[in-house]
Amino acid sequence: MGRRRHNFHAAASRRNGTKLDRMLKIQNLSKTYANGVRALVDVSLEIPTGMYGLVGPNGAGKSSLMRTIATLQDPDEGTITLDGIDLVKNKAEARRILGYLPQDFGVYPKVSAEDLLDHLAVLKGVVDRTERRELVRALLRQTNLFEKRKKALGTFSGGMKQRFGIAQALIGSPKLIILDEPTAGLDPSERNRFLNYLSELGRNIVVMLSTHIVEDVADLCPQMAIINQGHVYLDGSPSALIDQLNGKVWRKQIGPHEVDDYRKSHEILSSRLSSGQRVIHVLNEGPPGDGFSAVEPDLHDVYFEALSRAGRPVDGA
Ligand code: ADP
Repeated sequence: MGRRRHNFHAAASRRNGTKLDRMLKIQNLSKTYANGVRALVDVSLEIPTGMYGLVGPNGAGKSSLMRTIATLQDPDEGTITLDGIDLVKNKAEARRILGYLPQDFGVYPKVSAEDLLDHLAVLKGVVDRTERRELVRALLRQTNLFEKRKKALGTFSGGMKQRFGIAQALIGSPKLIILDEPTAGLDPSERNRFLNYLSELGRNIVVMLSTHIVEDVADLCPQMAIINQGHVYLDGSPSALIDQLNGKVWRKQIGPHEVDDYRKSHEILSSRLSSGQRVIHVLNEGPPGDGFSAVEPDLHDVYFEALSRAGRPVDGA
């Protein structure tokens, strides 16, 4: 199936004649690992100040992209610039202006939050003791961990550990923060609190967050991209992307074994169980008839539409 890439955000900005405050520019980035896996294929994105969501299934290439931006691996081709600074060529400078929370951020369980943050600040080049003490305390306050600063990190909940991960990513006042799947492993209430916290962060800096959970970006990110098999399939603002599907998504409750029949005659976006009943969403320019009813599209529909264009078999939500 052919691959089409849409950027409704850019199209809208061209229409309005507005100039966007872009900070992070990724151009024609490609990466093939030694084992032949093409993790990134000609990825180009323009990422402005604020929260930016990178969504895709496992193995899509999200971590590969984030590790490359974080200067931990080189691309085979392409450029990455932040405010005009080439991050691939100037790694030392890049590391001074970016903060990174990897997917598998480990902490020393017996060390206190304050001590580990102090140690990480030394590594980041904050050598003056007084300055460092103030910085560490400010970061602990900012991430709501000040009261727990003397506690061993091994006693922290998942949400607290992730906030500690943010605190270390914020050392050195970065212009760009890269958070690789920061909500993975959080329970629903921790996740909610953590997302609320993140929304406060992204005012003046670029905060790039990857996730395979569509809800993570739906409320939080003014801009997003959908990535799969190393390709960017869609990017723009969630609301503009949703608007593009207005009047084109239809739902129907069907029998438990009818999905394959419907797949022959309809473009199925998703098939999921709702209260034990099989419900499908299909994409169609007009009413498909046959018992289908109109649906107000949401970001799930956008996501599944992009993935189905990518030629991926449709699965349950
Ligand atoms: P995501 O973060 O979206 O789950 P990744 O970037 O981790 O995706 O992986 C993209 C693809 O690259 C996957 O097929 C994965 O198995 C492969 N991959 C990731 N890292 C390496 C590596 N160091 N060597 C070889 N293949 C890798």
